[in-house]
Amino acid sequence: MTDYTARPSLFIDGQWLPRGNRDVHQVTNPADGRVLAELPLATPADLDAALDAVQRGYPLWRATSIDQKAAVLAGAARLIRERAELIAITATLEQGKPLAEARAEAGYAAALTEFYAGEVRRNHGRVLARPVGQRSLVLHEPVGPSLALCPWNFPILNPVRKLAPALAAGCSMIIKPPEEAPGSAALVLQCFIDAGLPAPVASMVFGVPDQVSRHLIASPVIRKISFTGSVPVGKQLMALAAAGAKRTTMELGGHAPVIVWDDCDFDATVAMVAAFKWRNAGQVCVSPTRILVHEALADRFGAALADRARALQLGPGLDPASQMGPLANPRRPAAMATLIDDATARGGRLLAGGSARPGAGHFWAPSVLADVPTEARLMQEEPFGPVALVQRVASIEAAIAEANRLSFGLAAYICTQNGRTANLLADAVEAGMVGINTMAMSAVDAPFGGVKESGHGSEDGPEGMRAFQVVKAIHQH
Ligand code: NAD
Repeated sequence: MTDYTARPSLFIDGQWLPRGNRDVHQVTNPADGRVLAELPLATPADLDAALDAVQRGYPLWRATSIDQKAAVLAGAARLIRERAELIAITATLEQGKPLAEARAEAGYAAALTEFYAGEVRRNHGRVLARPVGQRSLVLHEPVGPSLALCPWNFPILNPVRKLAPALAAGCSMIIKPPEEAPGSAALVLQCFIDAGLPAPVASMVFGVPDQVSRHLIASPVIRKISFTGSVPVGKQLMALAAAGAKRTTMELGGHAPVIVWDDCDFDATVAMVAAFKWRNAGQVCVSPTRILVHEALADRFGAALADRARALQLGPGLDPASQMGPLANPRRPAAMATLIDDATARGGRLLAGGSARPGAGHFWAPSVLADVPTEARLMQEEPFGPVALVQRVASIEAAIAEANRLSFGLAAYICTQNGRTANLLADAVEAGMVGINTMAMSAVDAPFGGVKESGHGSEDGPEGMRAFQVVKAIHQH
């Protein structure tokens, strides 16, 4: 089973809609350019129908019993697991990542949905001590119909990261998955529907992103916007949300520093940086990018990482031999070329890669650069591709200053065997998530999110459900 069988479409008020005379987006396989599907795009009337549905779905779902909500989420988790292979193949064909990564993504999506099935029962508030006969309560209530705007890099997980906690909180939701990788999101939504989610509670739309987000955010029906994507688009969406004083969760970009100290486990650190840098071809918001290596190790580290880059097997994600797939769309190799050319022109040393692989598909050789000057664009902008920068640092203070130099603050990593150094650095880095001798940043019960321009609010964990709630204080005399 390796064929593309998904028929992604608009899902509004319980119906997968036919194309009709709607415009379409051609979904292509980034490994070979083949057209996989013609995706219908929503008209303004479709968007209004989705708004109408989730407006009706909200009171219905809010009034649904705790048991029933938990059963729908638990059932959806089970179905995602059962259908994981089809979901993963669809994501790989649309987005390019190796099938093993897509399978892991589907597994995490199922585990997260299962976690939120449990969170339905853990919606604890507070009772405040008052004189006899009086009390005050703090309750967490659903924020209302919400909008999820999801990117293409984790096409299975991103919609689940928003839908599952929104449902656990009691919200209805319109989801706009990425037009470039719509099929796995549609298969995942079907799991929730088949598990018993009432028809009007969730709708899925595709369209021209700017038009869709403007239309939906302007509607008084939508009370909350959860977006994952780039910093500039996030700022644009926050401005739209501000016009209606709407709440937002923004999971934006990163430019993760990795502080590699002279007492680290050298081989384990090189292996870890390589594994996480090339994962999803570097198209990951927490991808390690600025590797800030103690000067005593820097040359050896750069050479070892470059060896691993050269040894990596590139190929279509469905080929079990492929360790890294193509980039997801033609914008990424173009961006790699621009950023790497700029860095080398300014004196950065290319240790590996640096060019596209000839032939079909958006393949880019895993790339390592060293000693890239601070003014190079690669040292300022999120590369969102398979490029690592090995930069030498002479002191802990210099490492901290460089780690915190940019306006990003998503993930930061620390590699040292010294607990005191680890604690000092973990406290000093400006980041929403810190990994000490690990780069695994996602855990279903822990918050995932950034600070500074990397965004605000968290996904996953109890915090992910709180993001779809408002608090109410009730005082009784
Ligand atoms: P982009 O900024 O145009 O789009 C990023 C995502 O936002 C896409 O999924 C896109 O469909 C969506 N989007 C764009 N304009 C939108 C709008 N007006 N309303 C709603 N959604 C909108 O860039 P791109 O070329 O697709 O992706 C590359 C950049 O996006 C990267 O450099 C990276 O910074 C960022 N990105 C971040 C994440 C993340 O996990 N934080 C994921 C994907 C992309």
